[in-house]
Amino acid sequence: MIERHLNYIAGEWQPAFGGTTFEDRNPADERDLIGLFPDSDAADVTAAISGVSAAWPAWAAQSPEVRADVLFRAADIMARRADEIATELTREEGKTLTEARNEARRIAANFRLYAGEALRLNGETYPSDSAQLVLSLRQPVGVVAVITPWNFPLSMAARKLGPALAAGNGVVFKPSEITPLMGQRLVEVLLEAGLPPKLVALVQGKGAKVGQAITASAGVDALTFTGSYAVGRQIAASLSTDTRVQLEMGGKNATVVLVDAAIDKAVATIERGAFGLTGQACTGTSRVLVARPLYAELVARLEKSASAIKVGPGMAEGVQMGPLATRVQYDKVLAYVGIAREEGGRVVGGDALREADSNLAHGYFVRPAVVSDLPETSRLWREEIFGPVVAVRPIDSLDEAIKLADDTEYGLAVSLVTGDLPSVLRFARETQHGIVKVNSPTTGVSLNAPFGGLKHSSNQAAKEQGGASVMDFYSRIKSIYLGA
Ligand code: NAD
Repeated sequence: MIERHLNYIAGEWQPAFGGTTFEDRNPADERDLIGLFPDSDAADVTAAISGVSAAWPAWAAQSPEVRADVLFRAADIMARRADEIATELTREEGKTLTEARNEARRIAANFRLYAGEALRLNGETYPSDSAQLVLSLRQPVGVVAVITPWNFPLSMAARKLGPALAAGNGVVFKPSEITPLMGQRLVEVLLEAGLPPKLVALVQGKGAKVGQAITASAGVDALTFTGSYAVGRQIAASLSTDTRVQLEMGGKNATVVLVDAAIDKAVATIERGAFGLTGQACTGTSRVLVARPLYAELVARLEKSASAIKVGPGMAEGVQMGPLATRVQYDKVLAYVGIAREEGGRVVGGDALREADSNLAHGYFVRPAVVSDLPETSRLWREEIFGPVVAVRPIDSLDEAIKLADDTEYGLAVSLVTGDLPSVLRFARETQHGIVKVNSPTTGVSLNAPFGGLKHSSNQAAKEQGGASVMDFYSRIKSIYLGA
């Protein structure tokens, strides 16, 4: 029996007004149909916005304890259901069960963090003359549109829904069409936790229809988006000027290995950053810049360890790397492997396992790839691949490391493997990346620390995650002058 899923609009689970659906399939086995989801359009978006617009003022008027309680309960439910939802996440997105559990279990902590923030939405008072008291009052923004990607379908959404709701807003949520089930699960958890029924709307569907309808709507007060630079730029161009917008986008992240680094540590750091999550993390390691004396050994060691990674369905015991999430991703990664070869690079890995192994014939499996000896003009140095492909290049100085690490339009995450503190300090101060990590992979962040990129990685309106700065995006400040 095919499961037919629904939108959640104005407090009702319902099909798309147009009656059409789209398919959600398992990337480890495309014969496995997870379900049909509403292929919504502008009419569904209009109804969703209107329901949320009517609901949020009552939520905003509640005491912050009430809002915090709902998020604390959502955290408890999520903690209870994490392993069950993780299994569905692996089936829907492809990541390994271990990776899926890490993501799902963290959502509880995420909701708890923002439950606390609901109680800390402080204003300030300002020195003034004795005839008046001057203060700032934080208020919700109103209707917040949340548009998310598929690679972390739970955590990208929770880090937007959590603060939006904590601050007293209503939310129109459009998950990626690649991972609609994870979007639905989050909404179910929030409703079970006691969120007022009409406060959140879930509108499933394609970016070109639902996303664009949200962007074009005058009823959205703030829009928070995580996804590609190409789409982020389109959103920025089409939004009205008085809509608050946060765009977190792609990356072309590098790990820099300085000459004092231990090779074992460098290999482990790069392997995790480049091939974890099948290379489909916005902070994934895509480039390695290594001190020339270590270059040959590091390349050889990386090639060896990448070849030993067990690739297969994320559900299977012992599998270390799952499939790519979609056919588009699969074709794109293989195309970049082809480009690397055409450009004269040395490529180890990058094979399409679908053709090579009959057990993997129905999924989007590739072997992780290590690419070296590329020309400086290679597209692999510049373009976001978003897959398990890492390019390695020698460097001769710290100056060159900084210059090459920053020689990209993106500026999300960079990491250094070294014990040389003066180099670390200089690098951290000078690099044009929003996140600098030392002796750890470019991936993996604390959920309470500001997160965001520079250059094409972000519109830099506000950082995601953490305390005051994130709440600045989801609330407005009004200055009040109280005279006697
Ligand atoms: P994407 O840009 O294709 O889609 C993201 C979301 O936008 C989806 O929900 C999609 O349906 C929607 N969308 C598509 N077209 C739209 C339009 N015209 N108007 C409005 N919405 C539209 O990205 P993706 O393939 O889902 O995710 C991968 C990208 O996300 C990568 O570039 C990755 O680096 C980036 N990413 C960034 C971060 C970060 O925090 N910086 C985190 C995760 C992923």
